[in-house]
Amino acid sequence: MQKSLLFFLLLCFVAVFQQACFKDVPHGNLPSGQVAITFDDASVDNWFENLELLDSLKIKATFYVSAYHTFTTEQKHRLKTIESHGHEIAYHTATHPDLVKEVNKDGLAQTEFKEIISDLSLLKRDGYTITNFAYPYGSHSNQLDNCLLRRFNSVRALSNHQDYYKSLVKESGTRKVLYGANIDNNSRLKDDRILSLMDKAREHNDCLVLVAHQINKPSLHLQISKERLLLLSRAAAERNISFVTINQIAR
Ligand SMILES: [Zn+2]
Repeated sequence: MQKSLLFFLLLCFVAVFQQACFKDVPHGNLPSGQVAITFDDASVDNWFENLELLDSLKIKATFYVSAYHTFTTEQKHRLKTIESHGHEIAYHTATHPDLVKEVNKDGLAQTEFKEIISDLSLLKRDGYTITNFAYPYGSHSNQLDNCLLRRFNSVRALSNHQDYYKSLVKESGTRKVLYGANIDNNSRLKDDRILSLMDKAREHNDCLVLVAHQINKPSLHLQISKERLLLLSRAAAERNISFVTINQIAR
């Protein structure tokens, strides 16, 4: 009798201990498969129009914003509303150049001032806590990574058809170089391959990082259709995979 009571108490202790451990995503292995959908550039009006769609699909996303200095007051208000729905606002330069070419032309210090410090300080002044960065065109170098990882918890480049598995993040933590897989409808990644990457994320408790631009705008190349977003949402639910923002893994 006493033995079974002791065994029961031990099981309770293990259960409580596990819950405490997994309350926060620990550094090291992630607790379960996750997907981080990210949207790049300055399409705040389009993103705002599709907020209800994202909410209805239970998608929390990360928006890497460029050209903030060109935003109107209304667009700034819309970006705040996007953040208030639980999405992350992250950074994507002031004028969206190829940063490697900029550094070759103007040097690292001037590029950092012109493309990073400028609009980042405007965003901070408007109350944003920005901790993550995405490279325009995915163009980066070790020199840029080292420089920007002093300022951001992660920098995001792109994976391609030869190395989509680089988009599966194994662990949380800071000083991370992430590789997003492009899932705009014109990308080489078709529905079946996106689903197989989600299977891998579930099997290995990884976080799959995906990249898109505008939402549900069939006239554009760089857009993800409503149908593809629905597919992702359904596939995540079927696999018990949660949508996370980049600041949930890059910490
Ligand atoms: Zn971009």
